[in-house]
Amino acid sequence: MTLTWRHLAIIIVMLAAVLAASSRLHAGAHNSVQQPPSRFAATGDKLLIHAGTLLAVPGESPLVNQSVVVMGDRILSVTAGFREPFYNETLLDLSDSFVLPGLMDAHVHIMAQPSAFVRNARSGGGPISESDLALNGAVYAQRTLAAGFTTIRDVGSNDESVFALRKSIDQGMLAGPTILAAGPLISPTGGHGDRGFGASDSMEPAVRRTEGVCDGADECAIAVRHNIGLGADLIKFTATGGFMSATGTRQQYEVEEMQAIVDTAHMRDLKVAAHAYGAEAAKLAIDAGVDSIEHGWMLDKSALRQMKKQGTYLVPTLLISRPAGWTNMAGTARGAAERDEYSSFEQAYAMGVNIAFGTDVGIFDHGQNAREFAIMVELGMSEADAIRSATVATAELFGLGDDRGVIKPGKRADIIAVHENPLENIEALKNVSFVMKSGAVVKQNGDYLGSIDTRPVLGSPVKF
Ligand SMILES: [Zn+2]
Repeated sequence: MTLTWRHLAIIIVMLAAVLAASSRLHAGAHNSVQQPPSRFAATGDKLLIHAGTLLAVPGESPLVNQSVVVMGDRILSVTAGFREPFYNETLLDLSDSFVLPGLMDAHVHIMAQPSAFVRNARSGGGPISESDLALNGAVYAQRTLAAGFTTIRDVGSNDESVFALRKSIDQGMLAGPTILAAGPLISPTGGHGDRGFGASDSMEPAVRRTEGVCDGADECAIAVRHNIGLGADLIKFTATGGFMSATGTRQQYEVEEMQAIVDTAHMRDLKVAAHAYGAEAAKLAIDAGVDSIEHGWMLDKSALRQMKKQGTYLVPTLLISRPAGWTNMAGTARGAAERDEYSSFEQAYAMGVNIAFGTDVGIFDHGQNAREFAIMVELGMSEADAIRSATVATAELFGLGDDRGVIKPGKRADIIAVHENPLENIEALKNVSFVMKSGAVVKQNGDYLGSIDTRPVLGSPVKF
């Protein structure tokens, strides 16, 4: 019998089927040993966590030997003592760990970090596209999650890639923190966020909106609506210039412009974050009703009193203020060039102003968010309040206080663990050994597992 192409084709298909079946078998055998108990808790199945120490509500005292039950993406119960798992429960043994709610960072730029630009320049990579940013962001999002940050706010990127990243995480295609995205940073022509570097006034209106550039109350209201149309979760604008853009630290928007931005956003239930350094401009922004002052390094007593009165949050971003050598954390917070941001933070804390943890990561490498804690504590904040600022306080600022920030029945199962007690040594938060996001275990025993959902979608015509 001569072997025809037709025979050959049949043999190849059969061989492929046998190989596929055997590799599935091997994968199955491997999984039964290596796979973590449950990356995705199947419907009806529950995870039982034995928490050696549980800080269920940051700001309150931790409890020892607690049992936490998780079903789906929710916390079902929290009870005293270690009990045996029921037949439909898988035990996650964190009896040697300190367990707390997932951390949150209110000031992140998830799409970029300096090393990406250096690498691109060295390799002659040419211009960086939105697709480049999205791919890089997918990596940074996983580093952020592996570091124990389960929710972040992206406070200014562009009009496309951050929304694509948020979508792919929300749809379970990619592991990453929940992202609340601002989209384009709203800035005046020639202002801190104007990537047209002052040439934006000659741009077409549509291009200006893409860039987040607006002047005058009417155009700024349109810019906010444009961002809402893109799917923004919050609005961020520049009330003052900034250091990196060399646009100074003073007022950049008229009162009417700030008011239009805040009112238009609040009308649609979006929070407003104002980038602000100088006290005078910050006061105008607080008057206009912003929900948070980002950086706020030069706030004076009267601005802080006003924030205290109105409940406005300070997002301090102390880490980026470190003088030269800030990549080397060997020094103390008060380095060679002592600057205003420290006294502003100290006064805010002493006065009881709301403080929400935020780092400006993206100016430095992703996954290092927790370095901010040490500076806060060094400047007088208690470890308990520092942890509260990155859980309960951030959840409130994000408008997610009902959903996350504490480990209580009904709340989202965003849970992390560390080996040391961070209430005694805040640096412990730099070594997160366990991460659960929305009920899915993404890091265990210090190993990052990721959790890319490859399960077929119900109702999909493709059957596996
Ligand atoms: Zn920033």
